[in-house]
Amino acid sequence: MKINAYAVSEPKGKLKPYSYELGKVGSEQVDIKVHYCGICHSDLSMINNDWGLTSYPIVPGHEIVGEVVAAGEAVKNVKVGDKVGLGWFSASCMSCQECMEGEHHLCSQNESTIVGRHGGFADYVRGHWSWAIPLPEAIDLSKAGPLLCGGITVFNPIILAGVKPTDTVGVIGIGGLGHMAIKFLKHWGCEVVAFSSNPDKKKHILNMGATRVVNSKSPEELEVIKGKINFILNTTNVTLDWNSYLSLLAPKGKLYTVGAVLEPMAIPAFSLIGGEKLVGGSPLGSPALTKTMLDFCVRHNIYPTVEEFPMEKVNEAMKHLEDGRARFRIVLKN
Ligand SMILES: [Zn+2]
Ligand SMILES: [Zn+2]
Repeated sequence: MKINAYAVSEPKGKLKPYSYELGKVGSEQVDIKVHYCGICHSDLSMINNDWGLTSYPIVPGHEIVGEVVAAGEAVKNVKVGDKVGLGWFSASCMSCQECMEGEHHLCSQNESTIVGRHGGFADYVRGHWSWAIPLPEAIDLSKAGPLLCGGITVFNPIILAGVKPTDTVGVIGIGGLGHMAIKFLKHWGCEVVAFSSNPDKKKHILNMGATRVVNSKSPEELEVIKGKINFILNTTNVTLDWNSYLSLLAPKGKLYTVGAVLEPMAIPAFSLIGGEKLVGGSPLGSPALTKTMLDFCVRHNIYPTVEEFPMEKVNEAMKHLEDGRARFRIVLKN
């Protein structure tokens, strides 16, 4: 099977047409015809080898929605013709403790869609059936791609932290991930504080459902909400004044990061001890939770705010992202 894709052959390189051959589909694998593929910041990190994980040429793309066109004889949950999504993970071992507990996203043998194999900036992509998430009938395919990575990344910590509808919550960084977090938390029933220092985004952020936008660089604005927030989610990958955010948490409050901050986070112990506060992180979410999230999205009509580019204009789309102009997630259409 010949796959027509777009690949980068060196760090900071441009995407160029690239084709490769895939052998016969494995007994537990499915081949997916890619209809749409979202662009995640991790695609850029992988193109530039920021994490030292990249092998070139790399075909990025891990926010895939499409249709199953081939399925091995041992495939369980999906069949040819089904609409499915494939995110950051493309296979798990299916036998370790975590897999057996349904936490496939914590499997140490996980295969990632764009690490050492090729992703969704292509006409077809392959994956293990466990990560080919069946899409609800009524879902809008043109906007669903970003839910498969960005969406589940911010949905999982809401579940892990046990966020209640009565909670006041905060979201740091209102980009691809953060804007989806605001939409989820708004429909959860929470009072949602968005931390952003970009005045251009304020109107958009309020329209998404944030109760208020706080300029994280203004000590006066921060003072007003000190000790009042039950859950803060960081979606940025930069070093912030963590202690200042911890001071915004109410007793028993939780600060989660899903942004891959590369420097160690400086967390003073006393900022945690006094109010029994917690700091945590999480990677994406399980296949079952991803399915639950998709149903929740359809029920409440929650979708990322997307800008669509044709797949052929992938380089323009990447530049739009790199320049920080994406409002708020880019989707490529095949
Ligand atoms: Zn991603
Ligand atoms: Zn496993």
